[in-house]
Amino acid sequence: MEEAWRQLVATARRTVEDGLVVGTSGNVSCRFGDTVLVTPSGVAYDRLDDGDLCAVDLEGEVTAGTAVPTSELPMHLAIYRTTAARAVVHTHAVHATAASTLVDELPPIHYMAAALGGPVRVAPYATYGSPELAAHMTEALRDRNACLLRNHGTVAYGDTLDQAYDRTAQLEWMCRVWLTASTVGQPSLIAPDELRRVAEKLSGYGQRAS
Ligand code: 13P
Ligand code: ZN
Repeated sequence: MEEAWRQLVATARRTVEDGLVVGTSGNVSCRFGDTVLVTPSGVAYDRLDDGDLCAVDLEGEVTAGTAVPTSELPMHLAIYRTTAARAVVHTHAVHATAASTLVDELPPIHYMAAALGGPVRVAPYATYGSPELAAHMTEALRDRNACLLRNHGTVAYGDTLDQAYDRTAQLEWMCRVWLTASTVGQPSLIAPDELRRVAEKLSGYGQRAS
């Protein structure tokens, strides 16, 4: 659990260092059985250390630590209740947030959309931390491992903190590509059957397990 907390703090710090959030925006969690470790609300990540562990159960009751958990607990818990996710990353990344104000679904401008489950949906706006926002997000995440939150940011999940983080970075990068191309013209897009082909191919991407 302590090692998981260290990894969670490292991932949260990375979101700031890589410019995906500013200040205390965004939040990170990971699941251990029926326990979820979450970043505390409104605390700068460089001030978090080993003693600040914050854990809740799947109903959101604090089971360890004295800090108030992230205000986006409803989003994090909704993902753990409805998917096999082990980690969740939420950010206010610039290009992703900008794109969320322009479309209902991010046009598939790059084949890496397939790695996120297909064209990324934008969840309708609702107040941060609200059950409504969690419900909109859950709908937008159907058959996807990432989505945008309108006028707010990104959510991505994965089997590990690294995977949830990488998906977040890919999504932000793809939004940046789309915004960049859109400023000078109408970008060409990847066809749905090609995205499906890529999804299949990506399942064998990288090094073979030995
Ligand atoms: P917390 O500091 O409560 O995690 O909130 C940040 C945020 O991004 C809310 O959407
Ligand atoms: Zn937020």
